[in-house]
Amino acid sequence: MAGLAAEVRIGILAWFGEETARKQWQPLGTTLQRLLPVEKVSLRYFDMVGLEAAVAAGELDFVVTNPGHYVVLEAHHGITRIATQTLEPGQDSEHAVGSAVIVPTERHDLQILEDLRGKRIAATVPDGFSGWQVVWAELKRRGLDPELRDLMPVFSGFPMSQIFDLMERGEADAGILRVCLLEHLIRQGRLPAGRYRVLSPQGASAPCLRSTPTYPGWAFAAASHTPDALARATLVALLSLDSRDSVLRWGVPADYHPVHAMLRELQVAPYEFLREHRLEVQIRRYWPVAAVFVALLAFWFAYTLRVEAIVQRRTRELSAAMAARDALEESVQAHRQQMDHLSRLSILGQLSGTLAHELNQPLATIGNYARSLTRRLQAGKLSDAAVAQAAEEIASQSERAAGILDGIRNFARKRVRRREDCDIALLVDEAVALFLGMMTRGPEVNIVQHLPPERRSVHVDRLQIQQILLNLLKNAFDAHRLAERVGQPIDIELDTEGDRIRVAVRDRGPGLAAEIQEHLFEPFFTTKPDGMGLGLSICKGIVEAHAGQLEATNCTDGPGLRFSFTLPSASP
Ligand code: ADP
Repeated sequence: MAGLAAEVRIGILAWFGEETARKQWQPLGTTLQRLLPVEKVSLRYFDMVGLEAAVAAGELDFVVTNPGHYVVLEAHHGITRIATQTLEPGQDSEHAVGSAVIVPTERHDLQILEDLRGKRIAATVPDGFSGWQVVWAELKRRGLDPELRDLMPVFSGFPMSQIFDLMERGEADAGILRVCLLEHLIRQGRLPAGRYRVLSPQGASAPCLRSTPTYPGWAFAAASHTPDALARATLVALLSLDSRDSVLRWGVPADYHPVHAMLRELQVAPYEFLREHRLEVQIRRYWPVAAVFVALLAFWFAYTLRVEAIVQRRTRELSAAMAARDALEESVQAHRQQMDHLSRLSILGQLSGTLAHELNQPLATIGNYARSLTRRLQAGKLSDAAVAQAAEEIASQSERAAGILDGIRNFARKRVRRREDCDIALLVDEAVALFLGMMTRGPEVNIVQHLPPERRSVHVDRLQIQQILLNLLKNAFDAHRLAERVGQPIDIELDTEGDRIRVAVRDRGPGLAAEIQEHLFEPFFTTKPDGMGLGLSICKGIVEAHAGQLEATNCTDGPGLRFSFTLPSASP
């Protein structure tokens, strides 16, 4: 035949190594050499990767390979099938390849493919067509995905007989054989019949049992550069063969679409790209949404962290501020008590002249009586009546002195504030008595009390209110002295004002000049040479602590100043 190449190069997929393949395929080489009008037909043997490389390099005119690998080479390198192998005599080339999943017959727990969930299944190699992929696809269709670890494949490598070794050693529960291999081995007497059983058996009418659908057989394909005439001549030669030897049994080229569909389902070559593609396409399609989502997430995360940090910082600051405020309040409290105490001591100090004079009086009287008793005794004129009168007088004078000292001691004592219900009229009485007690025999003091007829109780710190009254009375007395109106009345008035009691002390002194009024309640403001200027500021503090206000107003109905403040009534 004119125009045909001197040498026809046929690349063959050799699973089990060149040696075995050479033995298996040599009859095909010899037959073609006889039938084709070419000088030389050479068979070359490759593994999957080597075969593809040789096709890519244009080193082959024809390729003989399994259905899975054929569709890969067809997709990648444009080879075209011209014939499809039939494994068994009389077999339809469209349905030449399939797999049988076998288990030892005694494994009664394993009947159908679904029973393999969680089990180990022996297979040849991950890219073997009938050795793994066909079963993998069938398992997936039945809801078992090895990639999701629903069951575990154990790969034995070639030859396929190693599958039996794995099962015999108990390293696999089931094994995958290409269709008809089990029957073939039994026929050859290499395996006892009944030792193994096929799971989910199909094709009872076919020569062999299988667990999967069938696919077209191995392909005899022409490379893209192979001349048509050579391809045609080769096809004619192949179709003319009919032998018991499967390498010499070829039919018309089958439809490999089912193979494509299955490999696409598994997303393996030539459809591997679907795996990356899926993710890539999704990313490309949704990246703006994903970016916004990620940005929002990052923003939310950062925001949460920031808010958390701010809250923690503020909490720390707040606790510190509260602790500082408590400490400050405590120290203010301590200072206020100190000031109260100082102020009381100051009033006492300012009154001490008259106080000394006052205490002198009873002591002098006591001394006089005692001396007069001694003199009378010496003169022998001591009558019982005189002794009784002297003793009586000494007792009453010493009681008077003790009374004065008691009042002063109580007043000057350092103490913690304590509120109680007390009769306001009684409180005023006590303060007046203490003031008069200190002033007795001093310059004349005229205190007039204007008390309401009904009794009113207030809820106050007794000693603090006494302190206010003493201070106001002393200031009134000082004002009278300044205005040279000693002896003029100092009025104390009590009035009810809603649920509060108003207390006022009015004098007839010079009143207040406007410039003094401004500073009246400032601490240490005084116009007196011996004054401390603490009295009114402390009084104001005490009144405000009782939720009232201390006011000073010049009188309009005559000379003088009127101090007034309110106190809370006792709860009824
Ligand atoms: P001190 O009596 O030690 O001066 P106070 O705080 O009690 O301290 O009084 C402050 C000043 O207020 C007095 O120095 C005085 O100028 C003025 N003052 C207080 N009471 C009267 C009053 N009844 N009449 C006129 N001035 C007064």
